Amino acid sequence: MNDRVVVVGAGVIGLTTAVQLAEAGHRVDVVAAEAPEATTSAVAGALWGPWLVEPRGRVLAWAAYGLKVLDALAGDPSSGVRVVSGIEVSRRGYGPPDWADLLADRRPCTPHELPTGYSHGSRYSAPLVDMPVHLSYLMVRLRAAGGTLTIRRLASLGQAVVEPRTVIVNCSGIGARQLVPDADLFPIRGYHVLASNPGLTEFLEADTEHPTDLLAIYPHRDHVILGGTAEPEVWSREPDHAIAAAIVDRCAALEPRLANATIIEHRIGLRPTRPTVRVEAERSPTGNLVIHNYGHGGAGVSLAWGCAREVASLLSP
Ligand SMILES: Cc1cc2nc3c(=O)[nH]c(=O)nc-3n(C[C@H](O)[C@H](O)[C@H](O)COP(=O)(O)OP(=O)(O)OC[C@H]3O[C@@H](n4cnc5c(N)ncnc54)[C@H](O)[C@@H]3O)c2cc1C
Repeated sequence: MNDRVVVVGAGVIGLTTAVQLAEAGHRVDVVAAEAPEATTSAVAGALWGPWLVEPRGRVLAWAAYGLKVLDALAGDPSSGVRVVSGIEVSRRGYGPPDWADLLADRRPCTPHELPTGYSHGSRYSAPLVDMPVHLSYLMVRLRAAGGTLTIRRLASLGQAVVEPRTVIVNCSGIGARQLVPDADLFPIRGYHVLASNPGLTEFLEADTEHPTDLLAIYPHRDHVILGGTAEPEVWSREPDHAIAAAIVDRCAALEPRLANATIIEHRIGLRPTRPTVRVEAERSPTGNLVIHNYGHGGAGVSLAWGCAREVASLLSP
């Protein structure tokens, strides 16, 4: 019989991993301090794109598999995934990212596609995920495969052991800093604003040339997510009206239909950032198998399925 598996964390990494393992026949219980809708994962925009995470070889393999799965999920409206077209633009030249070839329709923007003042850009389509919907979808799949979710904060990974041979899968995001502990893990706070959608259908990402200020417009059906920020070592998840207003102003400068956007919700999360994503197995002092799966920075939505598949292979080599 398969060993009991306890997945710590109910963000996109924990739930995706739990679904992968439960559907493979493992008995899976998720334990998490915060419910899915209260996690950093619920805050993400969320466009597929493996930006700024290492190690690139493994990241590209995880991202390619994630793209394939999310593309397939886009056929099911209940998944919260749609394939959306849009542009990324910059005032300065830049080479194509190392994942450019994974996107079949990626091409340079024509001059008339570039907003005023921008000289470079690319057009492509990619999966765009409505994260609260997607996390609910993952919960439905988890329960259908016999998995459970318990809301409980753990003081140590050892507290996840429910029977002697329990396998612990650590998907605790920024929480791994204390739980492991892992001093290499730090937050990069991300701030998004949710507004009603004035009719936008395409995403737009622009290089602000300022590392902490991002500019992103992600249209979902009835709402639009406007971003954002990337603030290293900032832990607060409290709304900051000045930051939110600055985000709306940046977006409206590129997309005039957002000029009168009303902020409906502040979405603030802590990207769990590390020099490299950690997906690896080790033995705890009590001899339990612990599989770590955390540190996905600003790319967890893009990497979740690839990392979940690797966790499954570590569990059943
Ligand atoms: C503003 C913003 C925009 C983003 N945009 C994108 C994007 O466009 N594309 C993309 O791919 N990625 C994006 N990301 C990154 C992505 O959101 C993260 O990489 C991803 O959410 C990390 O998921 P996670 O499951 O590891 O962490 P989390 O979602 O934080 O989940 C961690 C879970 O662990 C639990 N936990 C922690 N500590 C404990 C404990 N002690 N005991 C029990 N449970 C515990 C928490 O309660 C939670 O359930 C964005 C992030 C932000 C903030």
